[in-house]
Amino acid sequence: MIVVSEECVRAVLSEDDGFNAVEAVFAAMARGDAYNFPVIREAIGYQDALYGFKSGFDRAGLSLGLKSGGYWPGNDKKGLTNHQSTVFLFDPDTGQLAALVGGNYLTAIRTAAASSVSIKHLARSDAKTLGMVGAGHQSHFQIKAAVAQRAFEKVVAWNLHPEMLDGLEKTVVDLGLAFERVEREELAARADVIITITSCHEPLLMKEWIRPGTHIACMGTDTKGKMEVDRHLVATASLFTDEVAQSVTIGEAQHAIADGLVDAASITPIGDVINGSSAGRVSPDQITLFDGTGVGLQDLAVASAVAKSAAERGLAQIVEW
Ligand code: NAD
Repeated sequence: MIVVSEECVRAVLSEDDGFNAVEAVFAAMARGDAYNFPVIREAIGYQDALYGFKSGFDRAGLSLGLKSGGYWPGNDKKGLTNHQSTVFLFDPDTGQLAALVGGNYLTAIRTAAASSVSIKHLARSDAKTLGMVGAGHQSHFQIKAAVAQRAFEKVVAWNLHPEMLDGLEKTVVDLGLAFERVEREELAARADVIITITSCHEPLLMKEWIRPGTHIACMGTDTKGKMEVDRHLVATASLFTDEVAQSVTIGEAQHAIADGLVDAASITPIGDVINGSSAGRVSPDQITLFDGTGVGLQDLAVASAVAKSAAERGLAQIVEW
């Protein structure tokens, strides 16, 4: 079996490879070729840590395995990332352990790839202004992946903790785009595409603020109780997601579903749009909303691509097992 360290993942994983792997696995999920197993996530009663597993199997891409890890809030004081994860890949023909792949950088790339896939398939082709709600670790990756999809000229951004916008501005300017700090209502009035990636539990964007034609990728809500946008916005937008079962339970749609404002049947898997079996955007005035909840198959698909690339380039450690 091979070991691909965090450092090696950073060396071999390109944003394009992450995008292609995630787009392909969303398509496989929608065809019924790939499925996620039930997620386990538990507070372990030690170090305030949340720990769990996300696993699945992709029969088309032949990825079998799990991502194990979670959140250790005290890690930053030790000079470590609070989010920690490792991907285990198994040989689907024999069940033998095939690869251990560092999951931290990979998680950022696969999460950014998901919103980028949604922008490719759902945003208006003439989108010029990107609205960014959030300025944490993930936001930088989100912007880098988004600019690959449309000819964005400017990023308008808001964050609860304004001092974090300095770092985001640097990322945007380095990409050759203009950057402006704005209030949330102005952000909604000016952006053609909006990405939300925060740890919020209340609506940051209201339905009345959103212009016709906007595409919104809600990426922060991945747990019961979290929320980033007004439930009435969710109820009026055309809804797309990575996995409907997660969207209605832990995703942005959970609140509109709980209030009976949305029916699960009205949420389209993005894979159906990729495969051409569902229409994506059907009019320039439509508001589209992608509920990106994060599925284990994204991790496995990207980890498989990483393991293959690291092995081909002679960069993976080979371990007798
Ligand atoms: P981070 O800790 O680096 O940043 C958190 C961000 O949320 C910051 O912008 C912060 O200012 C903002 N924030 C915190 N509390 C807030 C509040 N009450 N109201 C508004 N904003 C608030 O985290 P990160 O790594 O950038 O991740 C951001 C979110 O994305 C997390 O909630 C994480 O769980 C989620 N996430 C989702 C996926 C997915 O696949 N959907 C993957 C990874 C992370």
